[in-house]
Amino acid sequence: DGTLELVKVTKRYGETVAVDAVDLRVPAGTYCCFLGPSGCGKSSTLRMIAGHEIASSGDILLGHGNITNLPPSKRGTAMMFQNYALFPHLTVRDNIAFSLKMRGQDKAARYAKAASVMELVDLGPFADRMPAQLSGGQQQRVALARALVTDPGILLLDEPLSALDPFLRLRVRTELKRLQRELGISFLHVTHGQDEAMALADLVVIMKDGKIEQSGTPQDVFHRP
Ligand code: ADP
Ligand code: ADP
Repeated sequence: DGTLELVKVTKRYGETVAVDAVDLRVPAGTYCCFLGPSGCGKSSTLRMIAGHEIASSGDILLGHGNITNLPPSKRGTAMMFQNYALFPHLTVRDNIAFSLKMRGQDKAARYAKAASVMELVDLGPFADRMPAQLSGGQQQRVALARALVTDPGILLLDEPLSALDPFLRLRVRTELKRLQRELGISFLHVTHGQDEAMALADLVVIMKDGKIEQSGTPQDVFHRP
């Protein structure tokens, strides 16, 4: 299944210990939000799970496999980037199908899969547009579709709502939750917003100085009796 397990995962940058022997278990199909002050190791943790950084020590397990040292495309994870990182010279459809091309799928299969993911995030009518012809919210949906097109077991989102205005933020928030439920995969979502974590999370993880300070349901973590 898609259960994620971190075992004593550590990331050092020179003298800095960014992530310090973190243990964490995220059951398959969990909406997990990471909170904590800037510099506490949230992004580094996500990047190690995605394979954009390699852990200095410890193990990352997904399902029954050890993914600690696998390249990003072989992990069964996908990351949605903050700046969306779209190819400006490719249509929406080709942006979304791109990673399937890299994986050697033929054009018919790529476009069929891209069409189903565009449907999922309401991008159907925009398939032939170029990124520059889209609003910020639409570009973000392309980035989301690009991440989902490989059928990841885990989607990683680093502050996905922070660039949006308050109205759009609420709408995308609702959409993320719907998508996570519909797909039944885990979302790992870094945020600064307690309200965001309250609304979205099954599991809240609060980090401090590279360690997990607290984790549990929003009720466990935010409710002070
Ligand atoms: P957060 O996402 O919680 O803001 P980060 O994981 O980005 O935390 O950073 C954790 C610590 O590691 C910080 O002290 C940060 O400056 C440091 N750090 C992050 N990335 C690098 C890097 N590429 N090189 C050196 N230090 C880094
Ligand atoms: P975030 O916390 O969202 O990662 P940052 O602005 O901290 O955002 O980091 C952006 C980029 O800069 C990342 O690729 C990170 O690895 C790098 N970085 C962060 N802190 C340092 C640092 N102290 N030295 C070198 N690179 C860093």
